[in-house]
Order: sequence, then structure tokens, then C-alpha cells
Amino acid sequence: MEKIWNGIKAITRITTRIIVESFHRLVINIFDTLFGFLNWPEKKLRVKIFILQDLQARPVVSPGDLITAIEYAKRSFKKNFNTRLLPHKSSQQIAEVLQRKAPYKVLYTKGSIGALAEEFRMTGRFFASNLSGLFYPITVFVVLDIDHASGCSLGPLTDYATLDPDGAKNASTLAHEIAHACGLWHVRPKSNLLWRSFSRGDEVMWWQKNIFRSSRHVTYW
Ligand SMILES: [Zn+2]
Repeated sequence: MEKIWNGIKAITRITTRIIVESFHRLVINIFDTLFGFLNWPEKKLRVKIFILQDLQARPVVSPGDLITAIEYAKRSFKKNFNTRLLPHKSSQQIAEVLQRKAPYKVLYTKGSIGALAEEFRMTGRFFASNLSGLFYPITVFVVLDIDHASGCSLGPLTDYATLDPDGAKNASTLAHEIAHACGLWHVRPKSNLLWRSFSRGDEVMWWQKNIFRSSRHVTYW
């Protein structure tokens, strides 16, 4: 019964997000859908990073381990998308340890298609119930391990992305996963922020600006 219930909740979450996302891209953010390459005016993107604790209640990384990645994302988003990366709640730090205990299956998650399957199970329910906010902010969870990846995002289908400790300590992976959450997919060349491996650069193409800036996560307020 619980499995069916988790599935129904996931379908509801994803359907709502598809509707909200379409409304932003076609109505509220239509200017950026068409003219995002102009990078005008400045927009805002709010992020919260929750570091999970392992089964011995030790945080999987320390908040200080994320400083490089946060600074990289701030610089890259301002330069490429004229978007300011801010903490979800202005009084708080971007990264903090989540006090609620995470079960084993959440600490060891799957990447890509496996992550989509997990969205329909207990793991998806855990992430959904620990979001920093609905629809607008992006919540990034730092887990112990992601199968075959160091970060993962289901794009606009969810309000969260995940990183493992390698991804959290790497400079560009946080920015890369947030860019996925804002609707961007993998592209060549290597110099692009959306190149799949750590050797990526932080350049973007003009049409990537349109997609990023018209996401529901990138706001005028
Ligand atoms: Zn990627």
C-alpha cells in the first residue's frame, strides 16, 4: 500500500511541476524564453544546500567544503546569465547540515534513469518532504554516494538536485547540476558548463541563456 501511495504522490509532484514550469516559460518568463540571450534585467536564483549525515550521524562533508563550488556558481551565473545566486532565506547560509536522519537508501542514491525510478519510491518522498521551499528555490542534497555519477538532477521535474562528496568538493559540479535543474541538458564542447565531466569549462551558448533564465527557479524578485 505504501509503495502505491509513494507512486501516486510522485506522479502528483511531477505533474504539478510540469504545469508550473510551462506557465513560467510561456507566460511569466516569456520575455526570457524569447530574449534571454540579452541577459536583461538581472534575475535571482535561490538555493539551499542540505548536507546529509551518514549512519553514524557524521555529516558527509562540512559546509566549508562547498565554499569553492558556491563561489564558482555565483561567478558563473552572474557572468553567463546575469543571475544572482542567493541563499533561500536571506538570514541563512547557503549550506548547512540537515538535522533529520536520512535512511540508507537516501544516502546511497542512483543517477540518471535510476534517480527517476527512485523519485517514485521512499527516496523521492524523503527529498520532497525536506525541500527548503516549493517550486522556486532549488534544494541540493549532499548524499554519501550516487551510482555512476557525482551529481544528479531530474531537471524541471523536481525542485532538488543531489551531489556526492566528490561532486560537492569539485568546483563546477554544483553549478552544472543547478543548470540541469533550470532545464539545460548535456552539450559539447568541453568548454561548456553542460559538458558531462569534471573537465568542463564554464562557457554557455546564447540559447542556453534563454532556457536558464526562463526557468521557474530564476525569478525577478
Ligand atoms: Zn550533468
